[in-house]
Amino acid sequence: MNLILMGLPGAGKGTQAERIVENYGLPHISTGDMFRSAIKEGTELGQKAKSYMDAGDLVPDEVTIGIVRERLGKDDCKNGFLLDGFPRTVAQAEALEEIMSDSDRHIDAVLYIDVDQNKLLKRLTGRRVCSHCGATYHVEFNPPHEPGKCDKCGNELKQRDDDSEETVRARLEVNAKQQKTLLDFYRDKGYLRTIDGNRHIDEVYESIKQILGSLQK
Ligand SMILES: [Zn+2]
Repeated sequence: MNLILMGLPGAGKGTQAERIVENYGLPHISTGDMFRSAIKEGTELGQKAKSYMDAGDLVPDEVTIGIVRERLGKDDCKNGFLLDGFPRTVAQAEALEEIMSDSDRHIDAVLYIDVDQNKLLKRLTGRRVCSHCGATYHVEFNPPHEPGKCDKCGNELKQRDDDSEETVRARLEVNAKQQKTLLDFYRDKGYLRTIDGNRHIDEVYESIKQILGSLQK
């Protein structure tokens, strides 16, 4: 199965990716990992990517797509893969279609974990960090025993600027806008499978299993 996993930050992609990879034996291919290994292996594209990153520039699509092409051509992808974080744009998605058809393959499904933005906002703004020892908490999912106080050292817990409602809301909006064009692209192709991610992680995974089960038939 050749799969793509999509969802906004906080939608629980990481947890679901872990489960899919473990239960279906697919390699988990995230953009970050791909870049890191290409750079480590010192491939020509890896070196190119590194020069852009070192200069603080965005890696251009042609380089990114080349790295994806190399990665998906490796032996461990022969029986499928789970792509995570790629593609991010329609141009990249079109390039991926080409990579697939060049090797007589196709994408089987795009799994989109759909979570209400207000819920994401709550998840993403709930993080608190100890100002002294750096221990992290979440007001809802991992609260300290005493509100606002670190369990380990008793110092004050703070919210990072990055986690403030304003910053998170802006980040989500940019991501949602970019994601929408990609979702439309995959809906048109007939690949898109939307999963209600507002439920418990076990229920979300059950839905994913059902979809993957129907693909394997
Ligand atoms: Zn502390």
